Amino acid sequence: MNSHTSNKPNTRKAIALISGGLDSALAAALVKSWGIEVIALHLTSPFGCTEEAQRVAKDLSIHLIIKEKGESFVDMVKSPKYGYGSQMNPCVDCRIYMFELAETTRLEQNADFIVTGEVVGQRPFSQNKAAMNLIDKISAMESKILRPLSGGNLPPTEPEQKGWIQRQDLFKFSGRGRREQLALAQKLGVRVYSSPGGGCLLTEKAFSQRLRDFYSYPTYKNSVEKMAQATLLRLGRHFRLSKDTKAIIARTDRENEELKSTWKKIGCFYFEPQNFTGPSAIAMGQLNQESKTQVVSILARYGRKTVSEPYTVETFSNQNSLETSSEFLSVTTPAQEEILNQWRVGIT
Ligand code: SF4
Repeated sequence: MNSHTSNKPNTRKAIALISGGLDSALAAALVKSWGIEVIALHLTSPFGCTEEAQRVAKDLSIHLIIKEKGESFVDMVKSPKYGYGSQMNPCVDCRIYMFELAETTRLEQNADFIVTGEVVGQRPFSQNKAAMNLIDKISAMESKILRPLSGGNLPPTEPEQKGWIQRQDLFKFSGRGRREQLALAQKLGVRVYSSPGGGCLLTEKAFSQRLRDFYSYPTYKNSVEKMAQATLLRLGRHFRLSKDTKAIIARTDRENEELKSTWKKIGCFYFEPQNFTGPSAIAMGQLNQESKTQVVSILARYGRKTVSEPYTVETFSNQNSLETSSEFLSVTTPAQEEILNQWRVGIT
């Protein structure tokens, strides 16, 4: 590893974007090893987030700021200016979005520059040199973003031009290999990071199908409902019963709880089995007796019954002014697999 050459104490401050993965943890650790104060910034996504960032920051002994990518992020993903990758991952727009939030944080924290763990050529869509240049220019932070893992192969940025860091301290990593990163992790004592591949849901096919459905047939009436429904995309089994009606069935006890607590916050329907064991569900949009019975038949399919009576489910509604009303509905036959497959959105 190269060593920082200046003997003067470094009084600079950097904001390091950390995802929870190895590369961003390494970049933050490296800059910290040069005597620069590093503040970690983790941006949570409404589509799912990692708790690894907290453990990473703790392991590196650096202060962590967590900010949410809000409704404007959900709207950006619907129609990104620079298009999608292989699924609904708008990586160029996403990075511009993240850099803009990082820049706001840099100004708030009176920091000098921004650090990322990007490696040239690691992601063909957003981490090639041309894309990096474009992203820096558009986010108006050209030369403020330091990529210490690949910076030895990139044009000098402001921290280097101003002498806060030295070119020989920058690495020249490129491509998808991880051997060099793992060796550097060992040298820097970076032990905590999430495993590769546990990454962004927007790159996954099944999740992207759900997301497309969410944008194509909105069942929300306001921002709160929109964000709550966006958050639900990552959990449960999703069924599109008509263009106006969607149901989500829990897969675990934790998801049961999450669906119930979401139902309490937004106007929709909640379904709870009465005489059989099985998951709960929520349904959004327009529900008539037929669609409510369809939801009951889906719950019956995933439930277990020991009595000979029909499957009975209590259905709660808080759609009108959040006042709760309830009714009991029953079916004798669970939904058939071929019908379920017609309704299913994004197999999980
Ligand atoms: S992989 Fe996901 S989080 Fe990363 S830049 Fe692309 S869309 Fe954004």
